[in-house]
Amino acid sequence: MTAHQKPAEPAVDFVRRHIGPAPRDIDAMLQTVGASSLSALMGETLPASIRQKAPLDLGKPLSETEALAHMRGIASRNQVFTSLIGQGYSGTIMPTVIQRNILENPAWYTAYTPYQPEISQGRLEALFNFQTMICDLTGLDIANASLLDEGTAAAEAMALAERSSSVKTKAFFVDHDVHPQTLAVLRTRAEPLGWSLIVGDPARDLDKADVFGALFQYPGTHGGLTDPRAAIAALKAKGGVAVVAADPLALTLLASPGDLGADIAIGSAQRFGVPMGYGGPHAAYMAVKDALKRAMPGRIVGLSVDSRGQPAYRLALQTREQHIRREKATSNICTAQVLLAVIASMYAVYHGPEGLTHIARTVHRRTAVLAAGLKKLGFAPLSDSYFDTVTVAVNGQRQAIISHAAHEQINLRLDETTVSIALDETTTPAVIEGVWRIFGGTLSYAEIEKEARDALPSALHRSSKFMTHPVFNEHRSETELLRYMRKLSDRDLALDRAMIPLGSCTMKLNATTEMIPVTWPEFGALHPFAPKEQAAGYHAMFATLEKWLADITGYDAVSLQPNSGAQGEYAGLLAIRAYHLSRGDAQRTVCLIPSSAHGTNPASASMAGMDVVVVACDAGGNVDVEDMRKKAAQHADRLAAVMITYPSTHGVFEEHIRDICDIVHTHGGQVYLDGANLNAQVGLARPGEYGADVSHLNLHKTFCIPHGGGGPGMGPIGVRAHLAPFLPGHPAADGGKAPVGAVSAAPYGSASILVISYIYILMMGGEGLTRATEVAILNANYIAKRLDPHFPVLYKNHNGRVAHECIVDPRGLKTTSGVTVDDIAKRLIDYGFHAPTMSFPVPGTLMIEPTESESKAELDRFCDAMIAIRREIADVEAGRFKIEASPLRHAPHTVHDIAEDKWERSYTRAEGCFPAGTSRNDKYWCPVGRVDNVYGDRNLVCSCPPVSDYAQAAE
Ligand SMILES: *Cc1c(COP(=O)(O)O)cnc(C)c1O
Repeated sequence: MTAHQKPAEPAVDFVRRHIGPAPRDIDAMLQTVGASSLSALMGETLPASIRQKAPLDLGKPLSETEALAHMRGIASRNQVFTSLIGQGYSGTIMPTVIQRNILENPAWYTAYTPYQPEISQGRLEALFNFQTMICDLTGLDIANASLLDEGTAAAEAMALAERSSSVKTKAFFVDHDVHPQTLAVLRTRAEPLGWSLIVGDPARDLDKADVFGALFQYPGTHGGLTDPRAAIAALKAKGGVAVVAADPLALTLLASPGDLGADIAIGSAQRFGVPMGYGGPHAAYMAVKDALKRAMPGRIVGLSVDSRGQPAYRLALQTREQHIRREKATSNICTAQVLLAVIASMYAVYHGPEGLTHIARTVHRRTAVLAAGLKKLGFAPLSDSYFDTVTVAVNGQRQAIISHAAHEQINLRLDETTVSIALDETTTPAVIEGVWRIFGGTLSYAEIEKEARDALPSALHRSSKFMTHPVFNEHRSETELLRYMRKLSDRDLALDRAMIPLGSCTMKLNATTEMIPVTWPEFGALHPFAPKEQAAGYHAMFATLEKWLADITGYDAVSLQPNSGAQGEYAGLLAIRAYHLSRGDAQRTVCLIPSSAHGTNPASASMAGMDVVVVACDAGGNVDVEDMRKKAAQHADRLAAVMITYPSTHGVFEEHIRDICDIVHTHGGQVYLDGANLNAQVGLARPGEYGADVSHLNLHKTFCIPHGGGGPGMGPIGVRAHLAPFLPGHPAADGGKAPVGAVSAAPYGSASILVISYIYILMMGGEGLTRATEVAILNANYIAKRLDPHFPVLYKNHNGRVAHECIVDPRGLKTTSGVTVDDIAKRLIDYGFHAPTMSFPVPGTLMIEPTESESKAELDRFCDAMIAIRREIADVEAGRFKIEASPLRHAPHTVHDIAEDKWERSYTRAEGCFPAGTSRNDKYWCPVGRVDNVYGDRNLVCSCPPVSDYAQAAE
């Protein structure tokens, strides 16, 4: 068949596949909810005052086949040169067994954040391995399970240093050899908090500085290696906190940050098998000394025990930092980079300590050979000590070098008077010979190698062992590793097995076609600071995506930089702050936030230097408009913004949203509308039209980027025109001149996953997206209708409708039976489901969001399970058994239950393990019983014990 004879395919085919219920199911569901049509239901759900007038028009949707062909076209406009730019991003080889079985495997990428530990043991173990690897490499006590990127990790470390240092001066020292993008992110973070940054040479300038902490880059961004021990010791003697930003590959050969005296280490695990992706996503890491563990940001996986006293993993307490501490939270990190941390950990499992050391030695050896050749050509490296990067002065030859480099298709790092060359595990001798040609000489690698000497200073040689745990030493064959990864994913419940009805988190289909191009080298292999001409495909895609997102939201401009929803909030508030400053309103720092807000809202506001004033909610779950009016008036002179979620976190379209926007505007404030619930609005209403000034959009919710077990995500923001000048800048794009600086290390955040949202919109078109919203609302109303008689639906609008999610309220049953929301959540596991969102926004309740992608059959399976659970509660109410002795409290049931020799419970094994209607053949068995959270927090264990402990235990 020639290219002209492609089989005909209906263009809107994908919409039918993305949306779960078939047309006849939709009719049946409409009947159940008592609506005459989808559009009638929308009329009863959304206030007429916010409805958008014109239908969403995003051009003709493409079929899956057409979309992939279109993506091929975009990919072909990206050029994959060999990037030796370094600066925190390196070429790397993702082992294909990991690519196929993790990155391309929905069992891993469609999982949710492991808040329900019993169904998350696989990814929790992988993250535990990540933490162990980071602790070992950095020589520190506790590591978290990833942060967004190296720049934001440095900013988090600075904030951690500030709150734990005894020094009161609000100044932080930054190594002048830090990555420029890290410095930019630090500046952005420090400025609203009134902290000053002192940039200098630690050996020379740190001693004179009065600072709460200092960041050292190790090795330096230009490659040089110096021994920071003396500077660290002097800093600590004065009460300062030492942060070392370290390259984890280099640490296999170099003295660890812990050995150097650091309190905190941060960095990027990108070069552990994760493609550069034009900026991301990749996992940053943070490790700290034991004394700082309770103050560490991000999620930490810890070991605890289950109901049988067996070891079980779960997230440690501070995971909920923002929800517990709210405006006193010091970090807003929520979605992180779990999938990428899992990949990095598996890369370490694949190579083991010897494999990683071998890679590091080879890279270093080749760098030494490169340096020897450059010296021969008259370009002696500026530093004698380096790991993988050398920098040379280029004097008058810059132009010649640039044009030769283009000819060789090699990207180098070009600064004003110097050029840096960074090698990685993909660099071959042929590439090094190419670099020499760029510098004007034809040399032979084999010849130069004979004279090259290693350049790691002996004082910095690593002496401590790392990754001695069996997991890093027992999976050397592909068969073993394949089975290890399969074993872990089999322990988990992800979207590839069952609906994940998580309110606020929008766990919808992550279509395979959307994922396919992510691993194409034209998207994966680009360095974020490669010349823009080489990324023409990317930039065309960014421009279209920005335009589409602006059309969908009604805003005038979009920034694709923030790496998560919370980072979008932070960027949006910085835009509001800068806008007020530009008008001479420096005193506008009060941010009104309803009590029902997501925890990241107050945390982001405090990061942006704002003072949070909490606004009450009324009995209907709506923002209390009178309280809002009162507080806005009371703080009128200082009012900066309101942060409001719409439709509300209670799952209802409040009628007063326009009034709220007007009140805030009247008093000179700006409206930040949290767009996490955009899945209820796309095609029906536009925040930019009904009064909001800025919103973030969680692309990992509404726009199909998979959750990855807790990241990656993307949180672009849309703004109205007056805020457009204050969108985040980036030194690589504007030379650092933008009024608001960078919020992410890379200018387009995690660029490579923008592809997913782009294809989704491409295949849905405006009509398909609108239809998806309508069905999402129908699905939620269907569940609300079916469950209401059994578990009352807490909030509805005056027509009795919910938006795209609903809260069911079992609190009354606690009085009649003793059942807790935990019991229901854990019992759902026995029925093969992930629990809904628990206790947010209302303690003791469950918030259910089905999304449009779930079919009527799956919705019914879920409702039937909930109704069956209600019958079990009725059994307790009727006195059949006490709650402590019920299958509800013993849930989840495991193979240990079904295999128990002596069964003395007041219900049968079958009732426990295969409750009403669950399939015996397709049973999901969670590997552990109910996990004891309190035990785990009291005994915080966050990394695998070294083998020596195993040896002792065996004695
Ligand atoms: C998910 C969510 C956020 C935070 O988004 P992240 O990407 O996890 O940082 C903020 N607000 C609401 C209402 C959310 O549901």
